Amino acid sequence: MASPGPGLLFVVSGPSGAGKDTVVDTLRARLPRLRYSVSATTRAPRDGERDGEAYFFYDRARFEKKMADRAFLETREYNGNLYGTPRTFIDATLAEGYDVVLKPEVNGALAIRRSYESAVLVFLLPDKFSHLRMRLAARRTESSDEIAARLAIAHDELKQIRNFDYVIINEQAPPDRRDHLAAVDDLEAIVRAERFRIHHYNDDTFRNVENA
Ligand code: 5GP
Repeated sequence: MASPGPGLLFVVSGPSGAGKDTVVDTLRARLPRLRYSVSATTRAPRDGERDGEAYFFYDRARFEKKMADRAFLETREYNGNLYGTPRTFIDATLAEGYDVVLKPEVNGALAIRRSYESAVLVFLLPDKFSHLRMRLAARRTESSDEIAARLAIAHDELKQIRNFDYVIINEQAPPDRRDHLAAVDDLEAIVRAERFRIHHYNDDTFRNVENA
């Protein structure tokens, strides 16, 4: 039985390079009721990133105009670029009964909780911090200065971990299981369990069961 009423908000955060993109994208393919909130950014698109899918790519003037128009729920300057969560998509999608997932950096996650008290906050950790550097370097999209800056931010972000509801450690898959990420199963377990929490059900649901 699907839980009735508005959808649930899942915020998957954690340091750059922990694997948020892969884990969230893989889960979205598994759970059709889960909708992704596309953020806006002033960062340049990486190869293969499409406008409106990976991000809404805005120049700084356009981003700042949207900020002034209160189009964002929260914004953050991260490593020299602006990132923001559009305000209307989340409300509209939750009201339609879909769950929403987003993957901001850690301060953004905490800001979202201030607006949505019932948001479920998940911290995705790498199994070793040394793997962050390896993953960022392997992706070949950041200079070594940018990687160093992202690693410094990662250490800062970890200080906030106790403000999250769940932690998932994204273990590096063994070479023969590169296609399978245990962290996706872990995140799916969280999403599914949250849907069954008793307070999402009203008494009518049980009365209808009782009287059927
Ligand atoms: P990247 O440039 O690697 O795509 O993202 C850099 C960081 O910004 C990541 O930690 C990512 O999670 C975060 N980020 C992406 N979108 C948003 C957003 O809308 N708000 C906030 N606060 N952070 C975001």
